[in-house]
Amino acid sequence: MDQQRIFLSAVSSEFRTAREALGRTLDLPGLRVREQASFRQEPGSLTLLDKPHDYIKDCTIVVCLIGIRAGSGPRPTESERYRDMLRHGIDLTSHAEWSYTQWEVFFALHYGRNMVTFRAVDDYVPEEPGVSDPRQALFVEHLVTIPLQAAHHTAPTCAPAQSPQPFVPPPPPAIPPRHAPDRPVRGTNKDSVMARRRQLYEGKAKILFEGPEPGTLVQYFKDDATAGNGAKKGIITGKGVLNNRISEYLMQRLAEIGIPTHFVRRLNMREQLIREVEIIPLEVVIRNVAAGSIATRLGIEEGTRLPRSIIEYYLKNDALNDPMVSEEHITCFGWAGTADLDDMVALSLRINDFLCGLFLGVGITLVDFKLEFGRLWENDEMRIILADEISPDNCRLWDTRTNEKLDKDRFRRDLGKVEEAYQEVAKRLGILPEAGVRDLKGPEAVQ
Ligand code: C5P
Repeated sequence: MDQQRIFLSAVSSEFRTAREALGRTLDLPGLRVREQASFRQEPGSLTLLDKPHDYIKDCTIVVCLIGIRAGSGPRPTESERYRDMLRHGIDLTSHAEWSYTQWEVFFALHYGRNMVTFRAVDDYVPEEPGVSDPRQALFVEHLVTIPLQAAHHTAPTCAPAQSPQPFVPPPPPAIPPRHAPDRPVRGTNKDSVMARRRQLYEGKAKILFEGPEPGTLVQYFKDDATAGNGAKKGIITGKGVLNNRISEYLMQRLAEIGIPTHFVRRLNMREQLIREVEIIPLEVVIRNVAAGSIATRLGIEEGTRLPRSIIEYYLKNDALNDPMVSEEHITCFGWAGTADLDDMVALSLRINDFLCGLFLGVGITLVDFKLEFGRLWENDEMRIILADEISPDNCRLWDTRTNEKLDKDRFRRDLGKVEEAYQEVAKRLGILPEAGVRDLKGPEAVQ
């Protein structure tokens, strides 16, 4: 390839101006930029699908602007020859139903091309009048949760796992070097989410933004994964979306049995509205089966069922590597009072009982998990409530029959199939459709 090839994929009625502006920005020596419209003008194009297909096949990077419309699609006779390329879990729907922009994504995935995906913010107004398309919502939901053949891992050191050709890094100034799943499309949005909200804190897996009302925050779930207190770093594609859903689901079920939680409602695929609390600087770990640090520390064989559930406390302090602490330490140094501890223990045991049963019902053993609590002040009253998240990031979840790990240990221990494990948990909880898009209860607006 003498030039770096870039393909811009976007529905014209939504993003024409943004796409054209991007095209102009990328009009640099050594870069060849094409979009669907380029091919319409090229003489000899067989169909509107063949040309983008041939171009994307050898592309350096495919830039997708994703909004709420799917756009028009090819005739079934046109897409017939590409039906095999729908194998990314999307083979549930006839090849005839997908639009040009969706096919462009399928091609990029099929050939392991690098992708940068920009998603419109929730209040984005498309350039031309029209209606949102439920197919697009389903597609986007699916796009971030299907195994992506690592096509979204665009960190320079991380070539697509099944790419037929080695990844050639794009020239640095023009293109962000990493996958940017939810970066709002700028230029066409009056007011982007990131610009509007003030970021208060960025952790390893989540970002907290100022909420819309006093006493609320927006919790954003990232795809970033770390292990060993940040010693190991990576991206688990779609993790943020799944953890947002899984945590929402579990917090709602817990609220139904009277556990007070910080969760208010899910805002979109990666964000949830939460109550602002004063976080107690402790990680409360509840264990039912020996695994991880207790197995190493005490020499207990991993998988040994504990005679009874055990609660441990760790101080949230990265610099000290989150050391284990006792109740004596906690009350002595004032991280929590005795009454706070009593509440945390009572809540932790109830949560454990309930979640053990809930997971068992879907064939999963809850081996252990970590909780965080916060103080919520209402008038002069203070309550301890459940905060943070509950997801495969902070639980050990094993298939009850096979003991297969369905949690972050797959990442920590390089076991592979990490994304699939998170998806499996979501599927079993009935949050992700068992068989794909057709099982979704109904389309949701893409935000
Ligand atoms: O590593 P260890 O065995 O102590 O972890 C116990 C549980 O706590 C595991 O489910 C793990 O995912 C979770 N954990 C966590 N965050 C930490 C440490 C542990 O979510 N910083």
